[in-house]
Order: sequence, then C-alpha cells, then structure tokens
Amino acid sequence: MYTAMKKLLLLLCLLVGIHSFAQQTENVIIITTDGFRWEEIFQGMDSAIANQKQFNHGDSEYLFKTYWSADVNERRKKLLPFMWSTIAAKGQLYGNRILGNKVNNANPYWFSYPGYSEIMCGYVDTAVNSNGYKPNPNTNVLEFLNHQPALKGKVAAFGAWDAFDRILNEPRSGFPVVSAFDSCGGNHPTANEHLINAMMKDSYKPFGMDECLDVFTHYEAMEYLKNKRPKVLYISYGETDEWAHAGQYKSYLEAAHQVDAWIQEIWNFVQNDPQYRNKTTIFFTTDHGRGDVQKAQWTSHGQGVADAYQIWCAVLGPSVNALGEVKTSGQLYQKQFAQTIAKLMGYTFVAEHPVAEAIETVVH
Ligand SMILES: [Zn+2]
Repeated sequence: MYTAMKKLLLLLCLLVGIHSFAQQTENVIIITTDGFRWEEIFQGMDSAIANQKQFNHGDSEYLFKTYWSADVNERRKKLLPFMWSTIAAKGQLYGNRILGNKVNNANPYWFSYPGYSEIMCGYVDTAVNSNGYKPNPNTNVLEFLNHQPALKGKVAAFGAWDAFDRILNEPRSGFPVVSAFDSCGGNHPTANEHLINAMMKDSYKPFGMDECLDVFTHYEAMEYLKNKRPKVLYISYGETDEWAHAGQYKSYLEAAHQVDAWIQEIWNFVQNDPQYRNKTTIFFTTDHGRGDVQKAQWTSHGQGVADAYQIWCAVLGPSVNALGEVKTSGQLYQKQFAQTIAKLMGYTFVAEHPVAEAIETVVH
C-alpha cells in the first residue's frame, strides 16, 4: 500500500513537474512598432484614408488590390497575416474598442518618449514630457531583469530611433542598446554584422540621422538573437510612425505588413531552436495611438489630437492562454506592460518608483 501510494505521488509530481516545465516562459522578446493605430490592427486598411489623393500617392488601386476586402476579418488578415492567424489562434490581442476592449496610455502626452518610458518603467513620470528628455531617471524592466543573476548579460535592445539610448538610460542600465546608426557587433562583428553596418552607412536616410530604416534594426536584432542568444530582447521599429506623419498611407501600411512578417520570422526561428522552442513569449505593442480619419488627424498624435491615447497589445507564448482577440469589455493601461513582462519571466519588478500591476489575464 505504502509503495503504491509513493509511486502514485511520484507520478503526480512528475506530471506536475512536466506540466509546469512545458508552461514556462524562459525568454521574452518585446516588439514595438511606433504609433501604429488600433484601427488598422482590428479593421485593416481604412478605405476613407486610402481613397484620399493626398494620402494614396494617386494609386488607390494598388492599395485596394493589396489590402482591401469588404469582410473585416479578411481585410485585417491581408494587412497582418501573422497577427490574424497564429497570434489570434494561440495568443491574446487587446484593444478592439469597437467591442469595448480598451488599452490606453496612462501618460497624458501621447507621444514617443513618454510612451516608451511608460512601457518599460511600468510607471508614469509626468516630468518625462519631451522626446528630447534627458537620460531616463527611472529604472526600467529590462535593467531590472539584467540585474537578476540568471539573466545578467542576457538582455539587449535594438531600436530604429536614437532616443532609446536615453529612454533606456544605456550608460546606467548595463545592457547594450543598439539604436539608429550605432554600428552593431561591438569589437568582434560577424561577417553579417560587417555587411549590415556598411549597408546602413550607405543607405537612404529619409529620417536623417535620428532614425534608420527598420530593415537594419531587424537584421541587427536577428543576428544578435542567433549568435548571442539573449533571454530578454527588445526590438523597436519606427517606420509606421514616420510614414504616417508624412501622410504616406501606402508606406505606413507596408511598414506594418513588414513588421508582421518579421514577427513571423522571429517566431519561426524561436520555435525551431532548442533553447527557445516553447519557452519564449513575444509581447507586441506600440508607444501611442493616432488621430482618426474624420478629423484628418490620422497622421498625427500628441495631446492636441483626440484619441491618440488609444493603443493595443498582443501576446504569444507557452504560458499565455489562447484567448485570441479579447472581445469582452475591459480597460488596460500601458503602464501594466512592464510588470506583465517581469511576471512572465517569473520575477516581480520592483524599483525606486511605483510599478503598475501586471495584466491578470496574461500572467494568470
Ligand atoms: Zn510620431
């Protein structure tokens, strides 16, 4: 009897052990695409914008051929196929305000530095009120994770925009922040990193020296992921915001479509790699929203633009319940992302500033 009970207990422990092992997030990849609207995430291409000559380069035919369907489910899937197949089936998506599911900036500014600071610090510091703000005095979650013994030296950030050196306070944080035209690969670049650096130097620079094209940031981050094998990786794409400001709807949509394809590439890589497979969570969001089309404000954002506080987020990973597009009414805030990321990794983010609570339905 005793032996049988012992055997049963052992079997139970083994089952529980295997179960929790399979559910564990050991790596996290945080991805942002700057100022991408929830409207396009959940409804796909907006025909009211695509039909306006000033926004469509006189080629609405291309836009309608490439991204349009009268059916909203088809339409959003044409724009973001990975989002509306794999993430919608296996992950979670928040922010469809038509269904009453809301994600907001908690900060009152609705532009980039305050938004990224809110994402990374889990806290609104109202003193952080310009894109030119000094190095961030507030501890961020990447820095916190890099201080954990198991993660030390396993954290890195890649951003198209040069402000990330300040937003993440690179000198203080202690992990690499490769931003804008920083060369990648440090003192011992791989052959690929050499090539990326050379091509970036000679590339078209539509945003001046403040921001490189997303393609460079993506290839730098992929090379780092494959060779340095970080446990915490942040990738920040910037073109969605830049093309929207420029009123170029086609380029805005194509930048988002490309980011979706890159997330698929990242997911395919991690799911085919023994270190990362079934142990890696992707957290995807944006720094702020934009205005709506009726007021011709979709190109802009900031305090003077109604609705620019409206954002979204998506999560995909082994410990995340497959809720898909969350269709119940609810209210989340951007400041909840930092603790959510920490909890997914098995830590509680504590800092010298308050940290908002994690999203309960992500970390359960
Ligand atoms: Zn902007």
